Amino acid sequence: MIIKVKEPIASEYPLIKKDQLVFTYFHFASSEPLTKAMIERDAICLAYETVEKTDRSLPLLVPMSEVAGRMSIQEGAKYLEKPMQGKGILLGGVPGVNPAKVVVLGGGIVGTQAAKMAAGFGANVTIMDVSLARLRYLSDIMPPNVTTLMSNHYNICDAIANADLVIGAVLIPGAKAPHLITKDMLKLMSPGTVVVDVAVDQGGCIETCTPTTHENPTFIIDGIVHYCVANMPGAVPYTSTLALTNATLPYAIQLANKGWKKACSENEELKKGLNIANGKIVYQGVAEAWGLPH
Ligand code: NAD
Repeated sequence: MIIKVKEPIASEYPLIKKDQLVFTYFHFASSEPLTKAMIERDAICLAYETVEKTDRSLPLLVPMSEVAGRMSIQEGAKYLEKPMQGKGILLGGVPGVNPAKVVVLGGGIVGTQAAKMAAGFGANVTIMDVSLARLRYLSDIMPPNVTTLMSNHYNICDAIANADLVIGAVLIPGAKAPHLITKDMLKLMSPGTVVVDVAVDQGGCIETCTPTTHENPTFIIDGIVHYCVANMPGAVPYTSTLALTNATLPYAIQLANKGWKKACSENEELKKGLNIANGKIVYQGVAEAWGLPH
């Protein structure tokens, strides 16, 4: 049994042996070579991203969203500084000076953690979602410097026109993120505004965002600083590793003690994680992605 964080890279494919259990993030639907290699190696692949609870939540994705959500404000605050080409605004302001205005698009895990961090800094925060139930919940738990707002085109245009920092945190499961901020809408924002599109791994909710890396995390379009790192938790591996293993360890222990067959037959959550077994794809979404039998 091999436990990893990221999927095996090409040089590791030949090292994987028949019937070896590999427990890691795979994201098979985004890599055909990886899918074919794992079938060929006859490995048993249990993917973190498809382990699913009965309430349809994804317990092994949550920790990374928590890290990215909290980190988005730390990064946003940094890029608002003048030497980083931001507006030169301190997130929390100081006595006698207004704090920054932060708009968070999406009130799921990433958005909630981002809003909480921004509020803790003392910023003036607006969090937007399309789910009224979610907005009600957020309104109950957030501090007074967080306002909830229905996400629609009119409200988004209004909110970003005054924003200093915009966080993209929407997710439509199984689909590309909707472009809530189009290229044209960048003109509504003032130069030096920072956008951190956490949803960039699903195509991004800001049209002008394309994935960047920690080595070169930002670019500027129409005066707007874009931060679009697709693997944000990778910059804080100490925290991320502990957060991830807190969530994976109980599953890993079941797999190690019982073997994958027994563990998956006794635990529906783990069974949902099974993507490849006995040389075949056993997860519908992955088989459909590559037109392969399952
Ligand atoms: P989530 O499912 O918990 O939350 C998504 C929220 O978006 C939901 O509350 C949903 O109602 C809302 N939403 C959907 N359509 C909307 C719209 N039009 N306007 C406003 N809100 C809308 O998802 P999450 O765990 O918070 O993840 C958010 C994104 O962050 C995902 O794309 C995820 O892959 C990504 N992510 C990126 C990194 C990274 O390093 N870049 C790390 C972790 C997660």
